[in-house]
Amino acid sequence: MRITEIRQTTVPIRSDMKNAYISFSEMTVSLVAVVSDVVRDGRTLVGFGFNSNGRYSQAGILSDRMIPRLLNANSADLASQDGTYVDPRKAWQAMMLNEKPGGHGERSVAAGVLDMALWDLASKCVDMPLYQFIRKAFGPELGISGEEPSNRIFVYAAGGYYDAGKGIAGLKDEMKSYLDSGYTTLKMKIGGATLSEDLRRIEAVLSLLPSGEHLAVDANGRFDRAQAVEYAFALAPYRLKWYEEPGDPLDFEVNKAVCAQSAIPIATGENIFSHQDVRNLLRYGGMNPETDFLQMDPALSYGLTEYVRMLHVLLEQGWSPSRCIPHGGHQFGLQLSAGLGLYGNESYPGIFKPFGGFADGVKVEDGTVRNPNLPGIGIEQKAELYELCRELLA
Ligand code: MG
Repeated sequence: MRITEIRQTTVPIRSDMKNAYISFSEMTVSLVAVVSDVVRDGRTLVGFGFNSNGRYSQAGILSDRMIPRLLNANSADLASQDGTYVDPRKAWQAMMLNEKPGGHGERSVAAGVLDMALWDLASKCVDMPLYQFIRKAFGPELGISGEEPSNRIFVYAAGGYYDAGKGIAGLKDEMKSYLDSGYTTLKMKIGGATLSEDLRRIEAVLSLLPSGEHLAVDANGRFDRAQAVEYAFALAPYRLKWYEEPGDPLDFEVNKAVCAQSAIPIATGENIFSHQDVRNLLRYGGMNPETDFLQMDPALSYGLTEYVRMLHVLLEQGWSPSRCIPHGGHQFGLQLSAGLGLYGNESYPGIFKPFGGFADGVKVEDGTVRNPNLPGIGIEQKAELYELCRELLA
C-alpha cells in the first residue's frame, strides 16, 4: 500500500477561557488527512490526525517540510514488514529527515499530527481499534505483553478556569455538573488569583467531594520558586490528588525544590515534547516514581512513535507507564492509555470542541470511559469532528 495524498487545514478552537498563563481566544488546531490507495468495502482508507489544545496550528512546518518529505519517500521504504500498512515508525524517520536534534520547539506538534493520522490509518488497515493494535505492536518491548488490554480508562474532568464573571458560585456549579455526569475526580486552575482567593476556591470545590484525593490543581507553570513553594505549603493540609506545573515546565530546579517541599504528589509534562526532555525531567526534576504523575501529550510531542520512546526512558529511570496520564482530553490519548497501560487520561467536558472529548454516546461511568469498538482512533464515531474531516476531503 502507499500514501496517495496528504491534506491539511487549520481550524479555530477559540474559547474565552483563561488559565494562569494564557487566554484561549486565538487558539487554532491543525487537522490532517493521510489518504491511502487501500479500498475496503468500497471506501478508500484515510487516517486523520489533529493536535490538541495549548499549541497552535502548524500549517507552515507541515506544508513546507514534513508533508513533502512523506510524499517524496519511496513507498517500499515506508511499508510494514508484511506490506499491509505504512509503518508510522518508518514514516516518522522520513518526515524528520534533515531535522537537527535538540531545540524541539513546535515541530513536535506538526510531527505529532501526522504521526496520529498514520497510526489511525495503520490500525484501519489491520482492522483493529488503535489501542488493541498498539498493545500488539509495543506490549512485548514495554513488558506489558500477554494481557488483553482493559478498555476501561480512568478520566478526570479538567475545568475550573478563570472565566470572566464566574465567581465561586459559578465554579461550584461547573464542578457539580461534572460530578453529575459521572466523573469522580476533578481538576481546577490556580495561580490566576491571590493565594487566599485560590484557597477559597479550592475549599468551595472540596465541599462537593468526599476527600482531597478527588481534586487536582493546576498552576500552568505560572510561579517562581518562592511562590511555587508557598503554594505547596498552603495546599498540604488539603491532601489533594496532585499539584500540577507549579513552575516553568523546563525549570527542573524549581520543580525539584517544590517536589522536596510538597506533601502532595506533583504532576507535570504537558509542555515536555521529546524523550530527551523527559529524560532530563526524570534526572533533574526531583520527581518521585512511586507517587508523582507525568502528563506528556502524544498529540503535541511527535506522536505515539515518540511516546513509546518516552516510555522506554521511564523504564530505564525506574518509572512505570502506569504513572502517565496524558494531557489533552482527546481520543488519541484515550487509545494510548488503554493500549499502553497508562494511569488514565485527561478530559475537558464541553470545551475544546470538537477536538477534545470522546466518541459520541460514550458515557462516563464511575470516573471511567471506553474507546469505541471500531478500527482506528474512532473519529468516525464523533460526528462533529468527523464532519470537519469530511470537509477536508471534499
Ligand atoms: Mg495542565
